[in-house]
Amino acid sequence: MRVVALASGSSGNALWVQAGATSVLLDAGLGPRTLAQRLASVGGALHKVTALLLTHEHDDHVRGVSPLVQRYGLPAVGTPGTLRATLGGDGEQCALRPGGELRVGELVVRALAVEHDALEPAAFEVEHDGVRLLVAVDLGSVGQDLLDRGRLADLLVVDCNHDEERLWRGPYPALLKRRIAAPTGHLSNAQAAAFVAACATARRQTVWLAHLSAVNNTPALALAAVRETLAVQGLVAPVLVAARDRVSLRWDSDAPAGEQLGLPDLHGES
Ligand SMILES: [Zn+2]
Ligand SMILES: [Zn+2]
Repeated sequence: MRVVALASGSSGNALWVQAGATSVLLDAGLGPRTLAQRLASVGGALHKVTALLLTHEHDDHVRGVSPLVQRYGLPAVGTPGTLRATLGGDGEQCALRPGGELRVGELVVRALAVEHDALEPAAFEVEHDGVRLLVAVDLGSVGQDLLDRGRLADLLVVDCNHDEERLWRGPYPALLKRRIAAPTGHLSNAQAAAFVAACATARRQTVWLAHLSAVNNTPALALAAVRETLAVQGLVAPVLVAARDRVSLRWDSDAPAGEQLGLPDLHGES
């Protein structure tokens, strides 16, 4: 299984997941032209995408969905609430209830309910040949079932939105601060660190920190929080930060863990 971070954060989210002849976009929060460019830069193409997996209906996750469904006829997979809020009755839709699983080409996709201020948000586990990706972005708290699946993941993509001190001292209006920090908002660096540490087992696991706020976080703060928490508990895992606005990380289940490195700025996008 190959996973590439195409964008991560409040200005757009998309991961490309490919295994065998199947490839899916996990969220499509960029316009079709940008998605096409970024996919092409890593050897993908929109017309070869098997399906769109949608975590929830917020614009930074679904901005490109309607055009992709209309132009390419791509089927959309998500919870019934997410599909209804994103597409209404348009296009081919495969509803997946939290707790359920669905085969998408050569992949098995499982949805897990998460707490976030959307209609029916979900985390996704994507499995191919016993290799598992877990994507848990846009959630404000971590439930037991997410921890249980997180322990099985070979690649864990975790919401790591804000440094708490920066959020509370920062420029956002009080109401927005409370919304972000709420159990239905986003994970702080400390919450993400606790989640990552709780998922660490003897299994070799790579961690991507995702959806960092440009205002209330920095990659250095997020990395330090997670690495320090792991170190205190005697745990070691490769931890990398997904960039907001460019192709940034690639993971290949066939490569040794030491080679799960960030990509350089491939095309000069800043
Ligand atoms: Zn988001
Ligand atoms: Zn959201």
